[in-house]
Amino acid sequence: MSLKRWWRNTWEKIAPIRRLHVIEGDSLPQHLPRRDLILAREDGEDWCVGMNCPCGCGRRIELLVIPEAKPRWDVKVDARGIPTLSPSIWLKKECCSHFWLKNGRVVWCD
Ligand SMILES: [Zn+2]
Repeated sequence: MSLKRWWRNTWEKIAPIRRLHVIEGDSLPQHLPRRDLILAREDGEDWCVGMNCPCGCGRRIELLVIPEAKPRWDVKVDARGIPTLSPSIWLKKECCSHFWLKNGRVVWCD
């Protein structure tokens, strides 16, 4: 395991857990919270999840969760409002972050 990954995963365990906030509508707000995730839901249908890239690069990540989308992600929320996403999120450009979001915590792949 690389030192960078070890450090980032250790920090993520210490930092506050990430929560999911649900908003009504089919799109995400312009401003996303620094750590938490936003789920856009319209008429009971989940559309997309937004978050800022956890590496701190300031990039905005939008993940479609509607069944028709490709690629699409699954978002599960536990009774406390803590989200889990699958599959992993992999940004192929710029910061190239690759991570899982599990139980409100980012788990870095590299
Ligand atoms: Zn980034």
